[in-house]
Amino acid sequence: MSIINKQKIIIAGPCSAESENQMMQTALGLKKINSIDIFRAGIWKPRSKPGGFEGAGKIGLKWLQKVKKTTSLLTAVEVANPDHVEMALENDVDVLWIGARTTVNPFTVQEISEALRGTSNVVLIKNPINADINLWIGALERIKNANVNNIGLVHRGFTSFGNDEYRNAPFWQIPIEMKRLFPNTTMICDPSHIGGKRYRLQNIIQKSLNLDYNGIMIESHFNPDLALTDSDQQISPSDLAILLDNIQWKSKEIQKSEYNDKITVLREELKELDDELLSIFYARMNISRDIGELKKKNNLTILQTKYWDKRLNYLMKLGQKYDLDPIFLKTVLENIHLESIRFQNEARTKK
Ligand code: PEP
Ligand code: MN
Repeated sequence: MSIINKQKIIIAGPCSAESENQMMQTALGLKKINSIDIFRAGIWKPRSKPGGFEGAGKIGLKWLQKVKKTTSLLTAVEVANPDHVEMALENDVDVLWIGARTTVNPFTVQEISEALRGTSNVVLIKNPINADINLWIGALERIKNANVNNIGLVHRGFTSFGNDEYRNAPFWQIPIEMKRLFPNTTMICDPSHIGGKRYRLQNIIQKSLNLDYNGIMIESHFNPDLALTDSDQQISPSDLAILLDNIQWKSKEIQKSEYNDKITVLREELKELDDELLSIFYARMNISRDIGELKKKNNLTILQTKYWDKRLNYLMKLGQKYDLDPIFLKTVLENIHLESIRFQNEARTKK
């Protein structure tokens, strides 16, 4: 059985392979944590700008082989082109992952799929950096079409403008939809790239486990402050051991029955969507306020009936497509509209 079918998969290791010593020290620390299955390390590092540390390259694969021999942990690297795939397979790497910057590019994903054709190794596909589910689905289909059977998905968050709560906003509804579309595909959370900071890791992991993810991929470095890449988000193996002790693979409410399992996951999904709804309301009201101010400057009335009529008609039709009850939808839309007018009015009457 492939490791990808195991429940509670834990992948840990440094963001980048920096030196043999850094790899060995980290791996020996991680080996002490019994629950760790796979040692990860970036050999070729995609950097936004040139001039930064771009990974150790091929020699890192030799260090990885030593780690495997010494610790008997499985190993994982990122592959960003067919050459990487070839070198990784030649050097006995067990798990190959496609990074977020690659998933966005169907040309590259196709080339990588060809290089992977028929492999029994595990292939993990990270979500694309932008919040476009079709790119993620497309990458999964391309890899599947190359007769790769041991596939997992890694949720590492999405670039988003104006968010300072995370390094990469999780947009949980996207992996939730992937899980709905591909219920038998392993979903792994990468809290390191979502959080960007050590103190955020635990909550992100717990949230993903409450959503019934199958495992985590986390960055760990024997001395995180010295790490050449992603220093703020890496944690030491001993801190990782504490963190793993403090998470619950199933939330407290869940008992043994299947009903409880399912209801808890569904409730978590609803919670995420409700949070999202509120943040959309917030953004919408801010725009209403801006419109109020603009109308004030131009001395226009608040209610522009014709425009609203047109929008309402359009949205009611769209609602049909989404199977929404027309009475329910009309009430919601009219209330949102009324509240927007109140916001506009407030902005208009403000001195
Ligand atoms: C990584 O895992 O180190 C990495 C580069 O990740 P991502 O592709 O998610 O940015
Ligand atoms: Mn990293």
